Amino acid sequence: MNNDIERVLYSREDIHQVTQKLGQKLTAEYADKNPLIICVLKGAVLFTTDIIREMDVYADLDFINLSSYGNETISSGEVQLTKDLDDDVAGRDVLVIEDIIDTGRTLKFMVDLLKRRQVKSVKVCTLLDKPAGRLVDIKADYIGFEVPNEFVVGYGLDYAERYRNLPYVGILKPAIYEHK
Ligand code: 5GP
Ligand code: MG
Ligand code: MG
Repeated sequence: MNNDIERVLYSREDIHQVTQKLGQKLTAEYADKNPLIICVLKGAVLFTTDIIREMDVYADLDFINLSSYGNETISSGEVQLTKDLDDDVAGRDVLVIEDIIDTGRTLKFMVDLLKRRQVKSVKVCTLLDKPAGRLVDIKADYIGFEVPNEFVVGYGLDYAERYRNLPYVGILKPAIYEHK
């Protein structure tokens, strides 16, 4: 699996440093708010489990799954809710944990949904931001790294459901796509 990677963008150590830094900020922001933390499946699973351990706050945890990508590397443009939350979000201070914001469509869909359900507040923490890919006007409140306009995998992010278990974020060798 590691042989399929052309270049490592963010190492295990880089990611650890960034989650510690973000965790401190989120601790300050949410110390008295008992937030509901929403992990967006599946890409944000690794980031969520790391970042919540850096947050010294009482918090609830829930999961949602939205899909727009299929197995391709280009967004289909259509967002679907494939697994809803278990918890009632009305009146809650919600923190959404994302893997990457590209076009912004997924995040826009989710933030609109949460607002319709009358959350008290909603903020977004994303591991990666790809501003060059943006098609709708939306921003994260907390960002780990700004990535170049390339398709990245690892640390939760997949290509055709593979590479989520890489401990770092990297760029795939072009040969992997060409075989498809
Ligand atoms: P958006 O709706 O912002 O275009 O896309 C968000 C979703 O697309 C992410 O949660 C992720 O699943 C997928 N995505 C966007 N860019 C990348 C990328 O570079 N690599 C991977 N593996 N997934 C991406
Ligand atoms: Mg995502
Ligand atoms: Mg994916």
